[in-house]
Amino acid sequence: MRRLSVLCTALLLLLAGCSGEEPARRELTAMDTFMTLTVYGQSPAAAEALLEEAAGEIESLEGLLSVTDPGSEIYRANHCGGGAVSLSDPARELLENALALCEETGGALDVTVYPAVRAWGFTTGDYRVPEEAELSALTDRIDYTQISLDGGSLTLPDGMELDLGSVAKGWTGDRLMSLFREAGVASAIVELGGNVQALGEKPDGSPWRVAVQSPEGGYAGVLEIKDKAVVTSGGYQRYFERDGEAYIHIIDPATGHPAKTGLASVTIVADSGLRGDGLSTALFVMGRERAENFWRAHPDFDFILLCEDGTAVITEGLEDCFSLYGDWQDRPLEVVRKQSFHTQ
Ligand code: AMP
Ligand code: MG
Repeated sequence: MRRLSVLCTALLLLLAGCSGEEPARRELTAMDTFMTLTVYGQSPAAAEALLEEAAGEIESLEGLLSVTDPGSEIYRANHCGGGAVSLSDPARELLENALALCEETGGALDVTVYPAVRAWGFTTGDYRVPEEAELSALTDRIDYTQISLDGGSLTLPDGMELDLGSVAKGWTGDRLMSLFREAGVASAIVELGGNVQALGEKPDGSPWRVAVQSPEGGYAGVLEIKDKAVVTSGGYQRYFERDGEAYIHIIDPATGHPAKTGLASVTIVADSGLRGDGLSTALFVMGRERAENFWRAHPDFDFILLCEDGTAVITEGLEDCFSLYGDWQDRPLEVVRKQSFHTQ
């Protein structure tokens, strides 16, 4: 996974570079992934201080949200035997937004899916295929509607566990954009694992060019964006194989099984990283048809679906800013529209 991120960064920089202005850049590993932060237009000292502050913000969010760090607020909520835990403002705000996304997606996103993620071994790397009886017992403990959040007071029924991994990087991207904007930066781009988020446009006024990874390695396409988050959920990002079958890390909360909907990846282009991140996971679980219907009902974002049969599907808002790349140029590209036009 790390190698893919590094490769992705390399292309991103290749495409985004050559602006004539020297950027300031910071690389770090956090939230289990490789991150690159790039800001333009600041003096070297100001940029250095800002990137230091940004790295501190990432560390502090990781400290609040980690499922494995006994010091994190989420860990305490998961291990307090059903009592109430008080959340800090950022964790409360993230959880409120995440719960709203669980609701909006009809539970395709469910922040209580952690027991199933662990049963398959994704939390430790000790992969296994659980028995059906074990999974059906676990799905009884997957239900975000049982979370009670009253102001900053969180109560989770005993035995249920919260995991904000599906939205944490997107939320972090939003926090970094606010930090940069408040510091007067007009042009910045961050890559947080599979998430890319841009503030403004490139210093020369042209859009950022962001590569979309091919599930088979290399790149499937290139997007031109400004002021957007581009978030990808892909089965290829974390999976294991048993007896020729691939088991991926995105779980269908209804069954406890890895989502198997014919999609290889979902990329969301949205104003907010948090929304993009939640929706990329949720639309992966939904599959193509439900994802298209969801988008028609909530058209404030765009998507790119890379299907396992080699078809790429994009929403109409990306028609002028997305192009297929490499091997994918020979494959079908279908455009989803808000309204279908019928000819008589
Ligand atoms: P992402 O990479 O953003 O798609 O998030 C995937 C991560 O979120 C997984 O590694 C799990 O920890 C967790 N997860 C898996 N399936 C779901 C789901 N349906 N809803 C919420 N979180 C999930
Ligand atoms: Mg996500």
